[in-house]
Amino acid sequence: MNSNYEILLYYKYVDIDDPEVLKSQQIDLCNQLNLKGRIIVSQEGINGTVEGVKENTEKYIDIMLADKNFKDTHFKRSVGNGKAFPKLKIKVRPELVSLHLGDEDINPQEITGTYLEPDELHRWFQDEKEFYIIDMRNDYEHVVGQFENSVLPSLHNFRDLPAALPELEHLKEKTILTVCTGGVRCEKASGYLLSKGFKDVYQLNGGIVSYMEKYPNQNFLGKLYVFDSRVVMGFNTDSEDHKIISKCDKCGELSDNYVDCKYIHCKGHRQFICCGKCLKNKDNEYCCEDCLDKDAIEEKES
Ligand SMILES: [Zn+2]
Ligand SMILES: [Zn+2]
Repeated sequence: MNSNYEILLYYKYVDIDDPEVLKSQQIDLCNQLNLKGRIIVSQEGINGTVEGVKENTEKYIDIMLADKNFKDTHFKRSVGNGKAFPKLKIKVRPELVSLHLGDEDINPQEITGTYLEPDELHRWFQDEKEFYIIDMRNDYEHVVGQFENSVLPSLHNFRDLPAALPELEHLKEKTILTVCTGGVRCEKASGYLLSKGFKDVYQLNGGIVSYMEKYPNQNFLGKLYVFDSRVVMGFNTDSEDHKIISKCDKCGELSDNYVDCKYIHCKGHRQFICCGKCLKNKDNEYCCEDCLDKDAIEEKES
């Protein structure tokens, strides 16, 4: 692994008058610094993951922090390999993360959960405080890694949250802590729970990645799913304390190796977990028999 590369994960909820202007500024800046990645800009702020050589990602941070709109943005750093993203994609979207709440939309600048620092969470664990972690990530994310004893509402997409609310109803009077990868989803999710009458709502500041960096292999078990070519990541994963919690879809052995279904027309571009041993059999490169059969038929026809 080439540790010259660094990946930055960041977001900032801040009013942006003209997202198109910000988009072109970001394109220029990233091209100038040779950064690749994905950035969403919106009237409600910015949310990005970018990779580049360390010298340039650090310059990017300096330039962003010098902008009054982004001066207190929290940048999460992790080791890159130069291949996390094939190119730079910057898009203007109505929301930083799609929740589609419509009239009930949450502005985290007005309502959001209390920030809990990783150190405080670590203390909560040690003190055996009564609290409930609600994982706001999608099912395919938490299957490879999750906080011990966390509550996992059935979300296949973040926008499923309103429909999953009844599953959380019993925690309304409890101390709850929402968690997600880097924090951007929790800003809204924790605000949403507050708006629905939840009494004592915290959000993990900097997200799971910040906790893992500080306390690798403690309390958060497994690896962290990320939306780039790494698919999963962790800190000190070579250590004996690191546990794999997910299983190979084909044989049931412990594995956290995510693969894309080989059938290019696979519905939903399904990713599934498949261990190295099973992958030696080409038939296992497909998420299901349907995809295997269809690919074989199309190959014959072409
Ligand atoms: Zn297997
Ligand atoms: Zn498939």
